[in-house]
Amino acid sequence: MGRVILQSFGASRTVTGSRHLLHTAEMKVLLDCGLFQGRRAESTERNRHVPVDPDAVVLSHAHIDHCGALPSLVRDGYRGPIHATAATSDLCEAMLYDVAKINEADARHLNKHRGPGQREIKPIYTSKDVDQTLKLFRDHEYDEPFEVGPGVTATFQDAGHIIGSAGVLLEIDDELRVYFTGDVGRRMYPILRDPVAVPDADVIMSECTYGTRDHPPAEIAQGQLADEIRRVAETGGKLFIPAFSVGRTQNLVWAIAHEWHAGRIPRIPVYVDSPLAEKATDVIVRHPECYDQELEDFMYSGGRPFFPKGVKYVESRQESMSLNGKDGPFVVIAGSGMCEGGRIVHHLKHNLRDEKNTVLFVGWCAPHTLGRRILEGNTPVRIHGRRIHVNARIRKINAYSAHAGKSDLIDFLSPAKEMGASIYLVHGDEDTALAFADTLREDGHHSVTVPETYAKYELVSRMTSVD
Ligand SMILES: [Zn+2]
Repeated sequence: MGRVILQSFGASRTVTGSRHLLHTAEMKVLLDCGLFQGRRAESTERNRHVPVDPDAVVLSHAHIDHCGALPSLVRDGYRGPIHATAATSDLCEAMLYDVAKINEADARHLNKHRGPGQREIKPIYTSKDVDQTLKLFRDHEYDEPFEVGPGVTATFQDAGHIIGSAGVLLEIDDELRVYFTGDVGRRMYPILRDPVAVPDADVIMSECTYGTRDHPPAEIAQGQLADEIRRVAETGGKLFIPAFSVGRTQNLVWAIAHEWHAGRIPRIPVYVDSPLAEKATDVIVRHPECYDQELEDFMYSGGRPFFPKGVKYVESRQESMSLNGKDGPFVVIAGSGMCEGGRIVHHLKHNLRDEKNTVLFVGWCAPHTLGRRILEGNTPVRIHGRRIHVNARIRKINAYSAHAGKSDLIDFLSPAKEMGASIYLVHGDEDTALAFADTLREDGHHSVTVPETYAKYELVSRMTSVD
């Protein structure tokens, strides 16, 4: 076997832009091709061009920080296969067109207000680039090995993180086994099966997003959500839930359907105000092969987890606006989760002043986002250039994260000690990754590395590794 080299181009000592290249003697395999999210100028440049020329791409899941730069790679000439699970392929279609449309609209807006002599702004990529990208997808089942190229076989394992999410086992020249975890989900998480245990491997490339902290149990979230819905039904207010369109929104709808079915909360109207969320829900409905037992049992007993009576998916912008003139009680679930864009922003502008209303955060908000400012208790907040006083109740549920927490990750990686596998920690902020590396060393792992961006690391099998 020739040398196998790992080189990360993103999600190394950070949580964004997942891109890891494996050079084998005969080919280059790119694991994920995600968008960088962060300071605009810097991330735009890194997203416009992906500085690699792989022979094949293998995709862990459809979150945008794992798949969102694929159309840039294709526009720059990539014509090889993109291997993914069927549910990931379908979700990518919805996600990538959404990114392209937002980019095209942004570019149009900026060009309209461009001064004389200023260069035309081009979108990072267009819907046409997405058309080309989707033609390259090759769908695979979980646990069915497939050939990636000369000397490289891959197998997807259920990662339990979002629908279609997978860890990838790469077998190289029958000598080296490398497992890339993608994002690791949580046990007992709604809709999804639990993450499958790490397979026997020489090298494990693991995410470590929450390597320094645990989440409250996911079951707690359902009770808190039910309490907020009961409260708003009594007071006649409106409950606004900023939520990511893929994954989180479907969890919420399924939780509400579950509570209605059990007769535990009143049936007030629920509006899902996000076209992307509706598309993502359609994908989930088409992929029952990904459901856990609890969801199957619920459907078997006549429950409708994603389109229950009483939940309305709002399509047009006019219909979305009309909710502002409507009296409560009702619930609105709308993107974006951090309130940086999307329809939630106009809902907040019109409804934050009213103390009868509640805003319920169900996910993490990055510093400096509108969501974070509201969560931190700032008032007034600035929305579309206006100062808006915050009189609404502000609440937060911490238990919904779709990532394994610290204890889950320690348990998940524990078999690596017996195997003697080397661990490479990716997809975690630098401080978190370095601290979690120490945690794993104290736990008895013999070789833990936190790779640096662009640096090259030779991956070796256990037979040849030196203690
Ligand atoms: Zn993810």
